[in-house]
Parts: sequence; structure tokens; C-alpha cells
Amino acid sequence: MKNVLITGASRGIGYAIAEAFKHNGWNVIGTATHKNSTNENIHVDQWIYADFTVDSHLDLLCQEIGDLSYLDACVNNAGINIIKKQNLVSKDDFSMMNKINLESPYFISAIAAQKMSELNGGKIVNLSSIWSVVTKEHRSLYSTFKTGLLGLTRAMAIEWAKQNILINAISPGFVNTELTQKSLSAEQQEDMAKKVPLGRFADPSEIAKAVLFLCSEKNTYITGQNIVIDGGFTIR
Ligand code: NAP
Repeated sequence: MKNVLITGASRGIGYAIAEAFKHNGWNVIGTATHKNSTNENIHVDQWIYADFTVDSHLDLLCQEIGDLSYLDACVNNAGINIIKKQNLVSKDDFSMMNKINLESPYFISAIAAQKMSELNGGKIVNLSSIWSVVTKEHRSLYSTFKTGLLGLTRAMAIEWAKQNILINAISPGFVNTELTQKSLSAEQQEDMAKKVPLGRFADPSEIAKAVLFLCSEKNTYITGQNIVIDGGFTIR
């Protein structure tokens, strides 16, 4: 049975990704910040609890990845958004965003790739965002780190190509999750949906099926890419 590690599998897009892998017969290892996040979930076979703002948690998670007998795929999904005027962004905001949205994927991917290289290779998918390809006011932190994730995706795709590890990013547009509800008021959500050519936000499952494809045996030649899934929002 194939093993996938999915960070932030407790809610939203991560939950849907875990569900998609489980339904396709994978063994799912999911992370969440704490046990209470995971009570209702049945699609994860093994939970690892790690709050990425705590260095020792990230170290322990990396150790657990290193101790796995094998790993076929890794999905760096956990992420937060802090929307603020740039002048109001504190060093603590910057550091928290960095730890969750970039530093953790960086070190998790490094150990995951090492583990994958011990067998026949594998797949890594990083959840970036449309705000890595376009941007708007008050998104300086989010755009900075989501764009950083694209740099990591491309650099790793080159570095691990000879070990047959294919590494890609997926950049969702607006997806119906708690993160979107926290980031946009109901009125803003209605306005934004009208600006999406397909006229609606995505369901998390619509992102999950693309992640599953990139990690599946069907993906034999896509690497180092950023795949935008936004109902056409960024092509206007
Ligand atoms: P969400 O519903 O807010 O879920 C966030 C996930 O990240 C949860 O599983 C959460 O775990 C985990 N997480 C939060 N803080 C963490 C921390 N300190 N340490 C470790 N894990 C932490 O978010 P989502 O909307 O599904 O977004 C998933 C990914 O897609 C993110 O990277 C996001 O930036 C990206 N994205 C989302 C959208 C969108 O419209 N929703 C669009 C573009 C990109 P707990 O449950 O334990 O808190």
C-alpha cells in the first residue's frame, strides 16, 4: 500500500486531499496541531500532532518521517493567511507565517525526498495560491511566502530529478474553507465569486483530485510546475 503524508489534514483542503487518497487505497498519514482538531476524521490512518510554530514539533515530525519504512508522496498543505497593511506587519507575524507556510514545507520536503530516494522515487505537492502569481493590497506576507514555495518547488524539482522525485505546486483560487471564511466577509465572498469566470468558489474536492493526480502513477512527466486552479480568475 502506498504511503502519503499530508500536512494540515484536519480541515478544509487538507481534509479533502486525505479523503481522496483514502478512497484511492492509500495509507494516509496526516498532521494536525492537536488531537481536538481530528476527532471527526476517519480518512487518516495515522495522525502526527505538530504545531509548526514550535521548532521542537517540526524536529519531531521530521524525525518521524525519517523513521517511516517508506514514503511515496508528501503534500505540504498546512498554511495560514495574515491579511494586514504592510506597515502593520510585525516581526512575530512574519516569523509565524514563515514557520507555517515556508520553513516547515522546506524541511519536511527535504526529509521526505530523502526517504523517497531510498526506494523508487516519489511525488511532492506544495499548496501555494493564486496570490503567488497575482496579488492585491494587504497580501504582502501571504504573497511573499506562497511565492517562496514556488522557488522551493522548482529548485527541488531540479535537485531531486535524478532520484525520480516529481515536485509540483498547486495554486488554488477561492476555495470554500474556514480560511476563506476568515479572510473574506460574506459580502466580499459574494462579490469575489462574481469575479470568477466560472461564477463560484471551488469545493475542496476540486483541488484534492488534482493533488491526487500529481501524486499518482499517471503523473510520469510533470515536475517543477505551478498548476493554477481558480475557475479562470487570474486569466481575466
Ligand atoms: P484551513 O481550512 O484553515 O486549514 C488549515 C490547516 O492547516 C489545518 O489542518 C490546520 O490544522 C493546519 N495548520 C494551521 N496552523 C498550523 C500550525 N501552526 N502548524 C501546523 N498546522 C497548522 O485552510 P485551507 O483553506 O484548507 O488551506 C489549505 C492550504 O491551501 C493552505 O496552504 C492555504 O494557504 C492554501 N490555499 C487555500 C485557499 C482557500 O481559498 N481556502 C486558496 C489558496 C491556497 P488544525 O486543524 O490543527 O488547526
